[in-house]
Parts: sequence; C-alpha cells; structure tokens
Amino acid sequence: MKRRHFLQLGAMGSLMLFQSGCERTSRGEQDLLRAAQEAKTHEAYDELAGAQLSPKDHIYEAKIFNALPDVVATGREWELVQSIEARLRRTMDWVGFGNFNIISFDRTLRFASAVDRIGAFTAEELAFIEELFARDARQYGFYGDRVIDHLSATIDESAVYKVPHTGHYLFRGESEQVYDAIKEDIGETIILTSGVRSLTKQLHLFLAKVVDTGGNYSEASRSLAPAGYSYHGIGDFDVGKVGFGARNFTQAFAKTREFEKLMKLGYVAIRYPEGNPYGVYFEPWHIEVI
Ligand SMILES: [Zn+2]
Repeated sequence: MKRRHFLQLGAMGSLMLFQSGCERTSRGEQDLLRAAQEAKTHEAYDELAGAQLSPKDHIYEAKIFNALPDVVATGREWELVQSIEARLRRTMDWVGFGNFNIISFDRTLRFASAVDRIGAFTAEELAFIEELFARDARQYGFYGDRVIDHLSATIDESAVYKVPHTGHYLFRGESEQVYDAIKEDIGETIILTSGVRSLTKQLHLFLAKVVDTGGNYSEASRSLAPAGYSYHGIGDFDVGKVGFGARNFTQAFAKTREFEKLMKLGYVAIRYPEGNPYGVYFEPWHIEVI
C-alpha cells in the first residue's frame, strides 16, 4: 500500500477513532508499533502499513501515525514561534500569572498594543497564530479532541473562581465539586496545580514547549495539547502533592500516596491513560471532569 493511500484511509479511520477508545492493542501490534517508532522512516512505515493494517484498525493506525517523522518549525516559522512565545511571556509577566490563566486572546492583543514592554503583535505574527490555531493537530501525531474552535473564545469570569494559594482558577459547578471532594477525602497534602486555561495560556504553554524542543510540534504535543485541544479550557484540572514541585508533572507523581488514594477512591478517570492511542504521554496528575 502506498503511503498516500494509507493517509487517506487514516483520515477516514481517525474520525471513528474516538468511538473505539476502549479497545486495546494486542501484544503483536505493540511489538510492531515499537518497531515502527524505532524505525521512524517512511520506508519502515510503508512496509508496516502494507503488511499489517486493515482500514478498521483505527487505533493501530493512529499509533502508526505517531511513527511518522516529527513536524518541526524551521526558517521564518521558527523565528515566529520564538517571537510569539516571548511576547506571550511578556504579557504573562505584565498581567500576572493568575490573570494570565483566564485572559482571552482579544484582551491579550489589546494589552500587547497598549504596553510598550510587551509590544503589539505584528501582522505576520497574528496571521501565523491564526494558521497555527486552525491546524489539525493530528498532523503532529496528537489525536485528542478539539474542544474550542474560536480564537476569540472568552472565559466568563463569573463562571470561574480563584482557588486560594494556588494562582489557578476552576470552573464553578462540577469541577469545583470534584476538587472539593478530592480535598476532603485526601486532605491538605493535595493541591490544584493547573486549572482553567484560556486559549492564550494554552498557546503560550504549547509554544514554550515547542521552543524547548527546538521547534518540534510533535514532541511538544506529546505532553501538552495544542491551543484549542485542551480540556483545561472547559473543566479538567491537574492536582499534585504539596511540596512536590515540578515533580508533580512527572511520572514520579504516580508513585505518591496521594495518587494511590486518588486511584483507590476512583477520582482518576484519566483523560490519557497509559498506552493511550491519542499520542499523549500518560498523565497521572490530570483529573477528567468533562
Ligand atoms: Zn492536565
């Protein structure tokens, strides 16, 4: 099977991907997947695709997609990624870490224009942000859902509240109730580590990760959803162990007593469990609400 044909099948198959999220890949498929990921070449991909795939094997297709070469920003695009990331960072410094979590994109632009220290976004930067936001993240190997489709989406400030001592916000209602129950059951050692994230915040987190990886969107998307694809925009949140710092966002959290309790009490309906087909690393700290 030619790669082009397979990509067409893949596009159809991935539409149905989410309906079959509970299926598990067999041992043989996992071995093959590992081989594909190690090979990371078109040739190996073609061979594997031709030899093993059936159009119905959606999850397997998704995983093989992840064995495609990473998408990397180069040239002018790489410069734009860096200048936008830096401008967003200056915006965060100006409005404050807490406020930045819920700032809309339109407001971000107004702040940037009004404050010399940030500097207005250039027409080229804005055009690139729009193009970036409109991209289908599957091209990076990220298979999570798009949850917000307008760059101008805003967060209703009366629908959120600031969680004391965290610098983060939660949506009132279900997220608030789940968080309160977690605090009550597990106690003072568990804390919100990331709550509501506006598109601006998610765009900055994602671009900061892209910058960290030298322009690699695919690698960035394995640990951070691109803007528009994060459930933090609509209700999910992250928790951690008090005093555990950055380790809360590593697999080390899965070894803590707090995580063990979360699991036992059934709070961790994890959005992206271990071995998930969405191209995302296992995130034990992420609480699925929506
Ligand atoms: Zn999360």
